Amino acid sequence: MTAATFDVERYCDDLGPEKIVHIHDPASGLRAIVVIDNTACGPAIGGARMVADVSLDEVRRLARAMTLKNAAAGLPHGGGKSGILADPHKADKRGLIRAFGRAIRQLTDYIPGPDMGLDEACMAWLRDEGCRAVGLPRIIGGIPLDEIGATGYGLACCAEVAAPFCGLELKGATVAIEGFGNVGRPAARFLEALGAKLVAASDSQGAVYDPAGIDSNKLAAVKKQAGTVTAYERGQKLSLANLLTVPCDILIPAARPDCIHAANAAAIKAKLILQGANIPATAEAETMLFKRGVLVVPDFIANAGGVICASVEYHGGAESSVQPTIAQKIRDNTQAVLTHSRQAGVEPRRAAEIMARERVKLAQSFRQR
Ligand code: NAD
Repeated sequence: MTAATFDVERYCDDLGPEKIVHIHDPASGLRAIVVIDNTACGPAIGGARMVADVSLDEVRRLARAMTLKNAAAGLPHGGGKSGILADPHKADKRGLIRAFGRAIRQLTDYIPGPDMGLDEACMAWLRDEGCRAVGLPRIIGGIPLDEIGATGYGLACCAEVAAPFCGLELKGATVAIEGFGNVGRPAARFLEALGAKLVAASDSQGAVYDPAGIDSNKLAAVKKQAGTVTAYERGQKLSLANLLTVPCDILIPAARPDCIHAANAAAIKAKLILQGANIPATAEAETMLFKRGVLVVPDFIANAGGVICASVEYHGGAESSVQPTIAQKIRDNTQAVLTHSRQAGVEPRRAAEIMARERVKLAQSFRQR
């Protein structure tokens, strides 16, 4: 790491990052980045993603989001994140992940979980390489957080609490989801169960929009079979960019970072945005939305379901305790953050950061000599 690639003055603050590790293994072709942001609350938990163009800046910001998310959720874990630079559809995925597991085996203050492009099987390969991992398959003692839709369930809990803050009734509310994957798909299913109606969804290949409503189970079956939501027989096909601005009550960005930015924030029609993805909006865009009265529940409050599930698994809890734990933590946090935001007139992210930072600082105080 050189000063040319990482500006210490700009990016290091009172929380972290504690460690930045660049991995290059010529034998396997592995190139990866691990950022351990803060371990004051405990060993860092955070997803490992496989994306061809993942950058240090992306991993650094995601690792910080995990520090805040884990602290906000009251978990005994710090925050970290990792990115493997490869296209999961083209690379020798198993080979790269096994090489990654060997490379991070000694990094004992980092516990990876599944993130974009990785699943439970990948976590099993990491464990088999002697590495810590969460989100393991059930057969080897895990609680498969993607299979049970832990993050999507948490988003639905968040929606229940947030909706009254922006005058919305979930029954009949229309929902658009950017990224119909392990977060987006179950979010649609759990919101449907609360009476909401999916009207638009996208994946990396395009988007589909049907104001009459899209059956999320049928859409999931189409995506599983054809590989993309664009094969859904009904509705209108849209570009990826247009998904974000369709008429809807609730927008859930659940794919890549920074998809909501200054150039498209003004065109967003949703009243409520639940950040399923990590860092899906720029700070500038969030401020623009706040000024327009659009309620944005930040990533590290809204999408904590997955890491709450991972923590239950890591500490040997029962699968049956996952949903009640997620519901209680996410409902309480959403209520606290949105109440503080309203009372103090500050953006929800700011209110959430104050709460989470206070918790990390308290944990840090026990480490001071
Ligand atoms: P995933 O790989 O299962 O799904 C991602 C989906 O997004 C895929 O359908 C993909 O085709 C689609 N996609 C990719 N690029 C896109 C684009 N430009 N426009 C629209 N769709 C696009 O990943 P995931 O686990 O669902 O994670 C999605 C996001 O949620 C990531 O930011 C991740 O960090 C975050 N997240 C995931 C979890 C979890 O439990 N899996 C928990 C918290 C946060």
